[in-house]
Amino acid sequence: MEFCDECGSMMRADGEFWVCTSCENRQPKNPDANYVLSEEQEVSEVIETGTGGDTGLPTTETQCPECGNDTAYWYMQQIRSADESETRFFVCTECDHRWREDDH
Ligand SMILES: [Zn+2]
Ligand SMILES: [Zn+2]
Repeated sequence: MEFCDECGSMMRADGEFWVCTSCENRQPKNPDANYVLSEEQEVSEVIETGTGGDTGLPTTETQCPECGNDTAYWYMQQIRSADESETRFFVCTECDHRWREDDH
């Protein structure tokens, strides 16, 4: 059972979301599904569990600097050092090349 963060009413399941029966507030059933990794989670864990198949990561259209493929998985990760905010990383769906969004 899930209750609305906004008004405290009971929520009903609707696909991947809970939907409030009173105020139409929606929240994801699985808050971990936002693909933001904590510092403790190593990237390799996420990628390697999906080797040869579905990584569970979303894909986007972007060009791989290595092989020119135009689709890549992406995820957000906090950089350990400095005071950088979360950075978007891409992983080529063809050659597994990884790069940061702001790499030039
Ligand atoms: Zn509500
Ligand atoms: Zn590639």
